[in-house]
Amino acid sequence: MKRAASYFPPERGMIVTKEIVCFRNADWIVGWDDDRGTHCYYRDSDLAFSGESIVFAGPGRYEGDCDREISAVGQCLMPGLVNLHTHTASMPAFRGVREEMGNPNFYFSGVYEGWGLFMPPAETRGTTTRAAICEMLLSGVTTCVDMSYPYPGWIDAVAQSGIRAFVSPLFDSAKIAAANDHALEYRWAEDGGAADFAAAVELLEMVDGHASGRLSAMMSPMTVDACTPELLHQAHDIATERNWPYHLHAGMSVIEFHEMVKRTGQTSIQWAHDQGLLGPGTIIGHGAVLDHHSWVHWHTKDDIDILAESGASVSHCPVVLSRYGVTLESFGRYRRAGINLGIGTDCHPHNMLEEIREAAILCRVAEQHMFSALTADVFDAATVGGAKALLRDDIGRLSKGAKADIVVVDVTHQMMLPLYDPLRSLIFSACDRAVKDVFVGGQQVVGDGQVLTMNHQQIAEGVSEIQAAVVRDMPNRDRKNRTAEEIAPRTYSSYES
Ligand SMILES: [Zn+2]
Repeated sequence: MKRAASYFPPERGMIVTKEIVCFRNADWIVGWDDDRGTHCYYRDSDLAFSGESIVFAGPGRYEGDCDREISAVGQCLMPGLVNLHTHTASMPAFRGVREEMGNPNFYFSGVYEGWGLFMPPAETRGTTTRAAICEMLLSGVTTCVDMSYPYPGWIDAVAQSGIRAFVSPLFDSAKIAAANDHALEYRWAEDGGAADFAAAVELLEMVDGHASGRLSAMMSPMTVDACTPELLHQAHDIATERNWPYHLHAGMSVIEFHEMVKRTGQTSIQWAHDQGLLGPGTIIGHGAVLDHHSWVHWHTKDDIDILAESGASVSHCPVVLSRYGVTLESFGRYRRAGINLGIGTDCHPHNMLEEIREAAILCRVAEQHMFSALTADVFDAATVGGAKALLRDDIGRLSKGAKADIVVVDVTHQMMLPLYDPLRSLIFSACDRAVKDVFVGGQQVVGDGQVLTMNHQQIAEGVSEIQAAVVRDMPNRDRKNRTAEEIAPRTYSSYES
């Protein structure tokens, strides 16, 4: 397996020691101002960690005991990013297929057909999960939320990757499927999803005490319209009792919006609020198509205020919805209302830095206002915003006592220059190209821009084989026996030679 240059010899593996490591003289540290409760820049400063925790993060020089010193000249140290919304088991297999696949009769959403049609078989999902995590690590993600339908080997795949993860088995009461080209149907399970829910709880209990110390549990009923109220309540009760975050996809599509109105007389958010499902422990997945959104022209305009007053968070995934032509209206408006926002990649590419950039740009376009989402606003969401949603204050910031989840950015990289402001250079220009090293709980997982814990190339080739098999099998998967090319035509006609 290819190994890039690493601060630590490979034989260290993932063993956590209490060795004190000190980065000396970092050009920049995206540190934490305790008095103001916000990120700040420290210049020419040190950062030290012992085992999995930070003991010093600027400003100035670390004067304590130190076992190993690393020069951080020419570097910017920033907190590892928190990716609040991913589905690792499925999304990597959709590359090149689903970016332009949507049904105009479903308001262009491709989720209702594309997810199932191109879903990799369960026995291959360890590879897709690893592929997603490789991409995340390379873009500076140190904590991710992984919402996947459980498959054998899932927990091991996540744990062995070295990432910090909220493992979140999906379950539901109904599968949503296209009955034809213009209507969806809800195929309700006879037991209302009880068996899958029981299995999810069992798995969450295993995760909660996982030996790696990097896995946490999160409750994830899939979508507000595909779960019975009973199932949502049972899940919410357990999550509240155990202090697990509770994630629910809602405000995800126009279809869902109208389905909930038809079924309950309320919007998804109004209904969830009346059911008592919103609160500081709840994360609303997407939360975009609410009653103020321009695609619904609805007569109420209450959802944003309800979310803000409830204390619930929103996991905002700008890229995936933008492919359908939809965006949050808007990141800035939600933030000003007081809603806690986190950012997630949801789909491929799992490039958190590009996602952060899209969050800023799409907000400015939606609001027609340049200052509606500044770099600090979106970076906060991708760090402490995600952490708050996950009920954590020890990730997403570089401060004493926080986890040593550290991203080393090469500020001498061509794409970072000229260097007036490191985060603006990183987010608007260099992105993952300038991410040099990544540490999770003090353990190095990326070195010189290469994943150290997995063979990324081999994994990517594995995903290619998985997708090729799915593509070959498409006529057997599709309700109209179409080929993959008929469902998702390639960019141009291709001719064999
Ligand atoms: Zn999702």
